[in-house]
Amino acid sequence: MDNPQRSSSGGPRGPRNDRGGRDGGRDGQQRRFGPPMRRVCIYCKDKTKVIDYKNGDQLRRYLTDRGKIRPRRKIGTCARHQRELALAIKRARHLALLPFAPDHVRGMNA
Ligand SMILES: [Zn+2]
Repeated sequence: MDNPQRSSSGGPRGPRNDRGGRDGGRDGQQRRFGPPMRRVCIYCKDKTKVIDYKNGDQLRRYLTDRGKIRPRRKIGTCARHQRELALAIKRARHLALLPFAPDHVRGMNA
């Protein structure tokens, strides 16, 4: 048994005919650590809560540590209340109740 087509170059590369053979279908749904997931908007749930632009302490909870408005997916508000919240935060910023920028950024070039 003689094999004339034997490749003499020592390249142990296998044939590339195994396309799509790996089962790489990773279905996510794994929840990483984070805030507790609240399905219901807190402002819809609690009717007594009112988004008040004069209440800076209330609105500060919805800012990141860099002074940005937290995304809806983090705080779980519905679209309507998130819009009201964003508007209230912007008003509160104008009244200097909330920061535009975090304190450590503001004091950097002083
Ligand atoms: Zn809502």
